[in-house]
Amino acid sequence: MQSILPLPTQPLKPGTSTGQQFWHTDAAKTIDSYSPADGQLIARVTETTRADYDRVVETAQAAFAEWRQVPAPRRGEIVRQMGEQFRHYKRELGTLVSYEMGKSLQEGLGEVQEIIDICDFAVGQSRQLYGLSMHSERPAHRMMEQWHPLGVVGIISAFNFPVAVWSWNAMLAWVCGDVCIWKPSEKTPLTALACQQIIGDVLRNNNVPEGVSCVITGGRTTGEWLARDPRIALVSATGSTRMGKAIAESVAGRLGKSLLELGGNNAIIVSEHADLDLAIPAIVFGAVGTAGQRCTTTRRIIVQERIYGDVKDRLKRAYAQLRIGNPLDESFHVGPVIDQSAVHSYQVAVQEIGEAGGQFIVEPGVLDGPGFESGCYVKPCIAEAENSWPVVQRETFAPILYLLKYTTLDDAIAQQNAVPQGLSSAIFTLNLREAERFLSVAGSDCGIANINIGTSGAEIGGAFGGEKETGGGRESGSDAWKAYMRRQTNTINYGTTMPLAQGITFEL
Ligand code: NAD
Repeated sequence: MQSILPLPTQPLKPGTSTGQQFWHTDAAKTIDSYSPADGQLIARVTETTRADYDRVVETAQAAFAEWRQVPAPRRGEIVRQMGEQFRHYKRELGTLVSYEMGKSLQEGLGEVQEIIDICDFAVGQSRQLYGLSMHSERPAHRMMEQWHPLGVVGIISAFNFPVAVWSWNAMLAWVCGDVCIWKPSEKTPLTALACQQIIGDVLRNNNVPEGVSCVITGGRTTGEWLARDPRIALVSATGSTRMGKAIAESVAGRLGKSLLELGGNNAIIVSEHADLDLAIPAIVFGAVGTAGQRCTTTRRIIVQERIYGDVKDRLKRAYAQLRIGNPLDESFHVGPVIDQSAVHSYQVAVQEIGEAGGQFIVEPGVLDGPGFESGCYVKPCIAEAENSWPVVQRETFAPILYLLKYTTLDDAIAQQNAVPQGLSSAIFTLNLREAERFLSVAGSDCGIANINIGTSGAEIGGAFGGEKETGGGRESGSDAWKAYMRRQTNTINYGTTMPLAQGITFEL
């Protein structure tokens, strides 16, 4: 099959923001980006060397000294212009996301829409970086808090949301006055360079200092440079729990700040009071969307025993209608997983389910033949399982759905919470008491808990993130901006005496 993109003759180069300065040493290695849709080599990108990394960080530090002085609403105006650029290039970038990562075109376009939305959000936020004021216990004193930018923010992103997660971080960080160094996934470097190109004109036209937006490329080692570097004030990392634990240790070792968005193991409870016409499409979309490669993918269904048979039959019928194929063709529901190692993880999990005694009610398999030449297309499957099985306890980044049974709601909530991860959760019920119990302190222990909505597809307006092994970070909406700033408490004495706090007297 012919690739839809001509492969440039020279490797593409990362670097600092405006496109005027792309640094790389001749000795640099390259990263090859293959499309899981058709297996074509679509880009060859220069890997950032340590020497280049150090120059990028120095440039970012110098840029910060200028950028933090730009009034926040003015920084917001620049982010607004970036949003306009992403509106303009939505189809092109969405198509590239779909082609490089393998998610459906609709989802690729949806990801770019998330960038546009967070730009809009950040523009408003740029006028709302509010601190509190307090009444002092001392006469003629005023107390207040203000928020200052942190400095250089390192953004490490995962392959499955190759551009949106960067924007959730970068747009807020920029209005807060920080500068950003983005290390995208080594599996999706091309989309990152495309974003850098898209905002290049805005940066240039507004005379934004070189280094406010930087992209570095590479894998784990490059990410480790950011984690260990005391010049990086905040490391915001999205990816596996394994990666998050390593980063948390390195950043904590230097008493830096980290913001972690890690793996999920998300469940939907289906009560006997559920409207199954709502629940079934939500489950199917949650389980097979992005070929099961969302952090919020629905991995477990916990079904009340009285309706278990009905739910099982409906899911079988729904899965029978799924069409698997090229993500750029909108008639297909399910595209490929990212690469051969993802196929391998799927196969390992399938074997483990069988060995544990799981029954597949929708059979797994790896597809081959015309249209599936990349070898990355797997069948979404459903297995009857037990929550305690190790394979159910871990996140396999593939479209495998576990079907579990419950008797009482407390039992369902206990199963839902009995995994190491705590990202997203949902219950389908029309019973008010059940819904409220699920949201109560004795309910879901996840960062996201939904009623009559599935686990995936969060809006940018809310704070996004999860508990336990999901890392505890919050990004995007609500007051997530505070993670990108440092809080300073100020006390101002405008009187003529020097009263000490707590009534202490100190006679001289
Ligand atoms: P991954 O952990 O393999 O890689 C993620 C990023 O971390 C990549 O850029 C990688 O180069 C880098 N990295 C890996 N090890 C590192 C280390 N030791 N130090 C520094 N950097 C390191 O994850 P992936 O396969 O790209 O993405 C899938 C995972 O991401 C899943 O677990 C998914 O649930 C999670 N995810 C979470 C969220 C969320 O918001 N909670 C969102 C998207 C993806």
